[in-house]
Amino acid sequence: MKQITEYCTGCRACEQLCGKKAIRLIADKEGFLTATIDENCCVDCGLCRKRCPQNRNDLFYGAPLSTLAVRLKDEQTLYRSASGGAFAGLAAWVIRHGGVVFGVKYDEEMRAVHSSAVTLDELDSLLSSKYVQSDTENTFSEVRRFLKEERMVLYSGTGCQIGALRSFLGKDYDNLILVDLICHGVSSPLLFKRYLEFLHQRHGGKVTEYDFRDKRGGWGLGYKYKYKYKYKYGSATADPYYTYFLKGHTYRECCYNCHYAHTERAGDITIADYWGIEKYHSDFYSIKGVSLMLLNSVVGMNFWKRVEGDFEYKDSKLEYAVAGNHNLKHPTERKDEIRNHIYDGIDSMDVKEYFATRFPLHLSLMQRVKNMLPAQIKLWLKKLKK
Ligand SMILES: Cc1cc2nc3c(=O)[nH]c(=O)nc-3n(C[C@H](O)[C@H](O)[C@H](O)COP(=O)(O)OP(=O)(O)OC[C@H]3O[C@@H](n4cnc5c(N)ncnc54)[C@H](O)[C@@H]3O)c2cc1C
Repeated sequence: MKQITEYCTGCRACEQLCGKKAIRLIADKEGFLTATIDENCCVDCGLCRKRCPQNRNDLFYGAPLSTLAVRLKDEQTLYRSASGGAFAGLAAWVIRHGGVVFGVKYDEEMRAVHSSAVTLDELDSLLSSKYVQSDTENTFSEVRRFLKEERMVLYSGTGCQIGALRSFLGKDYDNLILVDLICHGVSSPLLFKRYLEFLHQRHGGKVTEYDFRDKRGGWGLGYKYKYKYKYKYGSATADPYYTYFLKGHTYRECCYNCHYAHTERAGDITIADYWGIEKYHSDFYSIKGVSLMLLNSVVGMNFWKRVEGDFEYKDSKLEYAVAGNHNLKHPTERKDEIRNHIYDGIDSMDVKEYFATRFPLHLSLMQRVKNMLPAQIKLWLKKLKK
């Protein structure tokens, strides 16, 4: 078994393209899916290497045509979304007009997987961020089938997943809207699985729901999970998995060399949190969340004109967006000291020992006090600060 590229993102484009079914996605020792060629089936046609998005530099639009701060008018859906409900608003429009939406949900085993939605109920499971690498499964082939049937399709994912889908399809379609997220990096599905096992051990009950972007304490980085019919809430700094994820210590190796960490984007529309909005458009800041939206192509611009009525929005500037999101400038820095060892023992150590050894939390007194505050008080403090 041979690897296609040392910078594989695990996107599955090559697997879905190979007519000889010679490519398998196999989890590496850290748990990231990696494309490998079965040389017994391979006829050496070179298609996988030619279409590997990691070998291409032509999957980007030029500089964004427009930069916006947006917030969905539907407050219930806004609350369920990570930031300003950008994705939910775009996706709901497509569904209401008979189209198909692809995004990421948790499956029955709490794995993050790409999946399609054709109803607003199905869309609900795709909302909010799952901070772990998702598996695109066979969704690229499904997209192609829907496009051939002339259905409108909206596909959302990280930059590398959107670049991969474009490379897989090989041409642009009028009925396809690609939405990429600004992404600082992804951690491995195995790490997330072990983390859920750790929580299971801690609480004596399986975690059956996990939301990294709960808004009880307002827009920010608060989590919520469910076990044994109970909910547990907290902020990212109180949690080992979340803290080390945000600090960039658990990312896939290719994320530290990300091809998509700049303002030329692979999607027709790019969405993210509008971090720093209070500095640039203080009148538009809201504790309910604000999304950044970049319109990168004519398809993106035209689609926005159709959906803009569902949002409150404000014209903004790319330089403001870049100031709040360093992954629009460069990939996340690899901090070797921690990254070199963070996955050591992931499969062999007891989970409690693994997280205690590899993910120690050093909280300041202030952070400890903050973490003890109930969400309602945090919300009130945020409002007061505003
Ligand atoms: C791994 C990851 C890293 C991110 N890094 C940044 C960052 O550095 N800066 C920033 O501003 N924003 C980042 N985001 C985006 C951010 O979390 C919000 O998704 C964004 O603010 C849009 O919010 P929303 O309210 O429109 O939509 P949301 O309700 O969050 O929905 C956004 C879309 O993200 C999709 N999605 C969820 N999890 C994944 C996943 N694991 N892989 C691919 N797609 C997924 C959902 O299906 C949905 O389509 C990241 C998201 C992910 C998943």
